Amino acid sequence: MSYLRRCTRQLCAKSAVATLTYIYADSTAVLGPLAAIAEPHTYDLCKLHSEKLTTPRGWELVRLQLEGESQVPNHDDLLALANAVREAARVPVSDPDAVTQKPFLRLVPPEKIEEETRF
Ligand SMILES: [Zn+2]
Repeated sequence: MSYLRRCTRQLCAKSAVATLTYIYADSTAVLGPLAAIAEPHTYDLCKLHSEKLTTPRGWELVRLQLEGESQVPNHDDLLALANAVREAARVPVSDPDAVTQKPFLRLVPPEKIEEETRF
C-alpha cells in the first residue's frame, strides 16, 4: 500500500486513504478505497477529509467500505439508528386512532368484515 498519495484538499498534507469519484451523469459521489491510478474527476482524500465529506445539494454520496475500516458500526451510527427508532415509535398523543392502530397488516375472514361493517 502506497503512502505517496496525498489528500487533495487545500492545506492538507496527510496521506490519502480514499478516492472520491464524481459520477456527474448520476449526480453521485462515490467514496471508496484509494484508486490504483489517479484519474480525472477523482480526488484522493485523507481519513479525516473522507469522514467529513459532504456532497453538493441534490447529490448522493455512496460510501464504500474502506480498506482496514472496521465493520462494527461506530457510535454516531448507533446514535442515528437509536434516534430513527425513537422517531418511528413516537405516537402523537392528540390522535387517539394512532394509539390503537396496529403497524402491520392482518388477514380478516370475509364474515368478520361483514360483521365489522354492519351498522
Ligand atoms: Zn485531508
